[in-house]
Amino acid sequence: MNSNSLISTECLLELAWQEGFHRAVVASNIELEDYLSRLDSLKEEGLLDDVEYESLVREWQELGGRGTFLLCALSCYRDEPDDLTDDNETHGLIAPFARRNYYREAVSRLKRVFGKVRERTGLRKRDGRIFCNSRLPEKPIAREAGLGVYGKNSLLLIRGLGSMFVIAGLYLPLELADKAGPTGRKAIETGNGTFSLCKGCNACMDACPTGAIVMPGILNEKLCISYISAREVPIPDYMREKWGKRLYGCQTCQDVCPHNANLLVATDTRRGEIGPSVPLKRILQMDRKEVKEMFKGTQMGLSWVSGVAILRNAIIASGNSGDRRLLPLLFRFLESKEKTLRESAEWAVRILK
Ligand code: SF4
Ligand code: SF4
Repeated sequence: MNSNSLISTECLLELAWQEGFHRAVVASNIELEDYLSRLDSLKEEGLLDDVEYESLVREWQELGGRGTFLLCALSCYRDEPDDLTDDNETHGLIAPFARRNYYREAVSRLKRVFGKVRERTGLRKRDGRIFCNSRLPEKPIAREAGLGVYGKNSLLLIRGLGSMFVIAGLYLPLELADKAGPTGRKAIETGNGTFSLCKGCNACMDACPTGAIVMPGILNEKLCISYISAREVPIPDYMREKWGKRLYGCQTCQDVCPHNANLLVATDTRRGEIGPSVPLKRILQMDRKEVKEMFKGTQMGLSWVSGVAILRNAIIASGNSGDRRLLPLLFRFLESKEKTLRESAEWAVRILK
């Protein structure tokens, strides 16, 4: 571990502000006891299998919390309509975090920060690590560093940004001249418990259509529409009925959160722009490869987002749309080799007929 007097907390924060991040904190020697015990509980409750558990623990242990962390928040809020459906076309809905590629934008900004840090410190490219929407536990790290506090919906909350932001982190294997400490969390939470910004509110838990927030701060991903919308997992009829017109992601637990009301801060980027909704007719005419091609470079184009899952979502959204003009496009999926597409189409046709 280098001790490097050429870079300080103030300097790192200044570089983050220059890149337009909306919040930033610096911390060192982060311990994630809460995170690790949370993984233990999830495993015990059967919400995390052994392989996934081992992999998540190993990922954190390899980094070990030593060194310096810069944690940044970039707003994904935008004042825009949620649904562009008109008389001609019914749309499927995109959750705000995916309407533009805020993750890639945040990484690009952090790369510039890291470049300037390297100029000042002589660190090599491979010495640092940028993490954003990765397997590193960025939420617990950000919370421990004091970027925000947990809400009962399991997301981080920051005053003025609500939960409408993406988190990006930069790890540097050095000690700063002024030895930043992991002090933020204690400063923010001031003895009011883990959900200090929620107080008596339970709106997200009450509003979740599938009951995925099983306890304050604990999400059962297998019930969460946002998680499922990217993956080829079976969806029972009761969940299809609650799916609404969502094409990708779900925002309900954030829409009802009082901390997301009256937000003003937005990020000026058009990187990977999809927009708030997409015509379902357009998706239903594609195959899985064409869907992946259409969303290349966007948040929905990430390698782990399944083209079949997007098609399935479009079918379910069509069923819930009440738009019988979509029926002819659904018929072709009744013969699909993909079980999830076939079953979803059978359900959607039944609902629309
Ligand atoms: S994203 Fe949707 S399904 Fe998931 S916890 Fe929030 S409201 Fe529930
Ligand atoms: S909706 Fe209420 S309980 Fe849920 S995160 Fe927001 S403030 Fe907390």
